[in-house]
Amino acid sequence: MAASSSNTSPLDIAIIGAGPGGLSAAHALANQGFSVGIFERAHALHPIGAAVGLAEPGYAALQKIRPSLATQVRAQATNPKRQLLMRLNGEILFCDESPLAGTSFTWLGWYTLQTYLRQTLPASVRLFLNHHLIDFSAEPLDAPICLKFQNQSDCLARILVGADGYRSVARSKTVGDGAPLYTGTMTWRGVVPRQRLAPLADPFTEGAGFQLIVGEQKNFWMMDAGAEQLAWGGTALQSNPDKSESALATVLQVFAGWASIVEKMIRATEPTSIIETGVFDREPVSQWGDGHRVTLLGDAAHPIRPSLGLGATLAFQDAVTLAQVLAGVDSKNISAVAEALLHYEQERIRVTAPLQHQARQEGTASHADDQADRLKAAFEAALANRRKPDL
Ligand SMILES: Cc1cc2nc3c(=O)[nH]c(=O)nc-3n(C[C@H](O)[C@H](O)[C@H](O)COP(=O)(O)OP(=O)(O)OC[C@H]3O[C@@H](n4cnc5c(N)ncnc54)[C@H](O)[C@@H]3O)c2cc1C
Repeated sequence: MAASSSNTSPLDIAIIGAGPGGLSAAHALANQGFSVGIFERAHALHPIGAAVGLAEPGYAALQKIRPSLATQVRAQATNPKRQLLMRLNGEILFCDESPLAGTSFTWLGWYTLQTYLRQTLPASVRLFLNHHLIDFSAEPLDAPICLKFQNQSDCLARILVGADGYRSVARSKTVGDGAPLYTGTMTWRGVVPRQRLAPLADPFTEGAGFQLIVGEQKNFWMMDAGAEQLAWGGTALQSNPDKSESALATVLQVFAGWASIVEKMIRATEPTSIIETGVFDREPVSQWGDGHRVTLLGDAAHPIRPSLGLGATLAFQDAVTLAQVLAGVDSKNISAVAEALLHYEQERIRVTAPLQHQARQEGTASHADDQADRLKAAFEAALANRRKPDL
């Protein structure tokens, strides 16, 4: 599909990015009757990524967008039953029921989530792939915003929502706070169809499992991500966020000599689907967007270290709040739009800013020498707490 400003009337809302944030926002805003276009730079949506954690607040947000979204996403996700924590030398520190077993928390493939949100988009939403936003003009205020894409096409919209991740173009053109901050941690992530692996030992023998191996200021974890998939991720300290020529070769080298399951899991992964990225965040700011008709959502607005597992949840909550404040607003009414976006930003920044700081602290601690002992104590306390009889 190609978009052109020359022969189309302006969209009410253009969303940049078809990640969980952009897709959920498209659902929520289309439900309010707005004409919505999503512009995604990828040529096709491929099965990449690992697993995302979704707990009750994430499902509650999906439920508000459309109850069937929460039900259907949950149906493709898995609640962890067993949990194993070990040191690099094989010492087992925790092997028990997962502290999250029986709760509403689930793991779910990132691509499974993206696929489901995409397939269920309301018919009125138009998704434009191969549309890499490179620039836009939001002035004068009484003219539509003109979006410019790398493929030479352009498009007009009355409101622009940058859901284009932690390197957001929409953010750099409005907030202008420079590049995101590298946290000194590199990650490698992948997903493996379960049938590619021989039957696995504990914690995966008794249904859904989560396993964590900690050592040398590195972490490697594996989990059942539902839909017959296992997901894995590894983190290590690295002075720069440069990607290597081969993510497969690098991750094998970083975790060489670790438990044999680590190498098996990595080698069973389709090499081109392994994601190698630095972990970035930003200092919270008091305004997202231009204060008029451009705003941000998800990682573009509040990039957060993955240590709290809240990236997708916060993006869904942003989508809900944005749709609530814009409900009933005429997209041509410039002052009403500005007032609604201000309200959205104030409400969400109040929630997200402290979490960005908390995630940063947790993320730093995750590579400390006492990480294994801290996790053991935390898992034991959480399980004991869950097993405590109700008084
Ligand atoms: C490919 C990918 C895989 C991920 N895998 C995991 C994972 O396995 N586990 C996990 O916890 N988190 C993962 N994340 C991050 C997590 O999904 C986010 O923290 C969170 O869900 C917030 O989503 P978001 O939609 O705000 O941002 P993102 O998920 O980052 O999505 C942003 C989207 O915008 C698109 N985009 C960026 N710039 C432009 C542009 N200029 N023009 C058009 N489109 C643009 C990107 O291609 C992407 O599709 C992944 C992100 C991506 C992009």
